[in-house]
Amino acid sequence: MSWFKKEAPKPEKVAPINEATKKIRTEGLWLKCDGCRQIIWKKDLETNWNVCPKCGTHSRIDAVTRLKLLLDEGDYQRHDTTLRSSDPLAFVDSKPYSERLTGMQASTGLSDAMIAAEGRLDGRTVQVCAMEPKFIGGSMGSVVGEMIMRAIERCIENGQPLVIVSASGGARMQEGAVSLMQMAKISAGLMRLDEARLPFISILTDPTTGGVTASYAMLGDLNLAEPGALIGFAGPRVIEQTIRQKLPEGFQRSEFLLKHGMLDAVVPRLELKQYVATALRSLMD
Ligand SMILES: [Zn+2]
Repeated sequence: MSWFKKEAPKPEKVAPINEATKKIRTEGLWLKCDGCRQIIWKKDLETNWNVCPKCGTHSRIDAVTRLKLLLDEGDYQRHDTTLRSSDPLAFVDSKPYSERLTGMQASTGLSDAMIAAEGRLDGRTVQVCAMEPKFIGGSMGSVVGEMIMRAIERCIENGQPLVIVSASGGARMQEGAVSLMQMAKISAGLMRLDEARLPFISILTDPTTGGVTASYAMLGDLNLAEPGALIGFAGPRVIEQTIRQKLPEGFQRSEFLLKHGMLDAVVPRLELKQYVATALRSLMD
């Protein structure tokens, strides 16, 4: 599900030969905003960190862009880049999991659905784990779990705060119970971080669902979300079928969750860095 469709504006009805050339010229340069349905120049959107300049709708960004947004000078050091899933179940769906992983690693340049980064946020050294939604839906498996655990250990060792940016479809089904066990493992790790009196700021972005919502994404000292982000455990259709009721308007969106006490704040993307910096100052200094 993407908020923006990669489509060129509809070519006017002209002779077929011109239609073809028009398509080539405009393809990929323009996007239609799902919020205001207006056509936006792709470059305008990108320079605004994928926030629609006309209506403020937030569309997704990848982990690399996220870190550039949050960390000073967009500069950071990556940790644990060599961790790889061992495919413990030798899982096969439409294709073998091992093959799926190799393909994803090639297309994203990442070893799994997360970048574990260390950098400065408004001058303060922080450990930031940013999930990559393009890597098997940003799903959480053993590697994501281990990356977060190691980030927690670095925080405790160096007295640094932890920031996790979630963008995830939940636990990775190809790793079955191993993936579900990460929920307990990370939760236990976060308890140790809490005992060390170090803050954990959770940032929920579109989408944060399943086992990620049910564990670390909701365990922050501060749980922040971007506007309009889909946040939930099960999908709305499953819930409607189970409780046999129509769900209210805006159900499972950030603003609804804030209103019902599930979040501490909804923070626009362009204000996020400053918000986190201020929060860390009041929590740590
Ligand atoms: Zn818009």
